Amino acid sequence: MFILLRHYFYFVAVLWLSYVCFKFLLSLFIYNRFLVLLYTSIVNTSTSHFLYLLFCRIIDFPIKSISLHTWWNVVKLMPCLYFPVSSIIAVMSGEQPKFFQCNFKSNVCLLCDKRSNDNALHILFECEALDAVRKYHILYISFVMPYGMKQEFRCMSDERKLLFMLSCFNCGLCPEWIGIYKSIAKFVHDMYKRRKCLFDRIL
Ligand SMILES: [Zn+2]
Repeated sequence: MFILLRHYFYFVAVLWLSYVCFKFLLSLFIYNRFLVLLYTSIVNTSTSHFLYLLFCRIIDFPIKSISLHTWWNVVKLMPCLYFPVSSIIAVMSGEQPKFFQCNFKSNVCLLCDKRSNDNALHILFECEALDAVRKYHILYISFVMPYGMKQEFRCMSDERKLLFMLSCFNCGLCPEWIGIYKSIAKFVHDMYKRRKCLFDRIL
């Protein structure tokens, strides 16, 4: 009798555990499905701009349409810029470029004494440790810009310069500007490359 009861208890316990596991997996599936449905429904509407702005931590200008970003059209025109452009896309998304990722344990830049946030603005325009690479590239970018753009670029704040360059001037592809696109892509890529080298030395 006692053995029968014990077997019955085991049977009920296994049944209950199976039910709990099934319920857990079902909730995961429903939750995931819900997120997918939410995402697809949002993307199919005009509110996708708001979603993009919500998750994109750098770009804060209105997005006119959901289409291939101008930077990828630059890559179509000049495939050798694939890696520099992918670095820009990573920075635009608030991440660090592939192969140049470092300093995950701290939000503060460890290369200079400013104790600033280790973000794209600091890396590309403020960090003193990267001054040499920055000066060379900014000088070259100004050099290849047309006169009007150069004058406007010089008057911009660092934040505005960051948005202006990372957004690919917030306009469509202009084949005449391929030299400027190239210089900007190489600037961002080389800055993060240099930063990674410096971090490898101190860590
Ligand atoms: Zn710094």
